[in-house]
Amino acid sequence: MAARKAGLIALFDVDGTLTAPRKESTPQMLKFMQELRKVVTVGVVGGSDLVKISEQLGNTVTNDYDYVFSENGLVAHKDGKLIGKQSLKSYLGDEKLKMTKKYLDGMQMICRNLLTLPSITLLTWIFQ
Ligand SMILES: [Mg+2]
Repeated sequence: MAARKAGLIALFDVDGTLTAPRKESTPQMLKFMQELRKVVTVGVVGGSDLVKISEQLGNTVTNDYDYVFSENGLVAHKDGKLIGKQSLKSYLGDEKLKMTKKYLDGMQMICRNLLTLPSITLLTWIFQ
């Protein structure tokens, strides 16, 4: 087997990339990923928890890939071992978490309102 390329990691999203959204991966995709792992370090990244990612990529997922980042990277496995775990609540604290949620809610409202404005109003606003 050829040596894997040092200093290079290929990261893949799970839903919509390695699998159809929320579905299991195909045997062909799983085989391809293992072939790829022979030549480069491979990691997978998903928004779901490890239970869901295991349902999609197989229950040996943490051993099948060099890195598995579940919960959008809040939980990290390397070579089958847990190497990191974080929660937004403990990292940010209650106050910053509330501020972040308030900010995101505000941004969501702005985006929603922009999409419902008549286009002439939007263009006027943009070119002011
Ligand atoms: Mg995706």
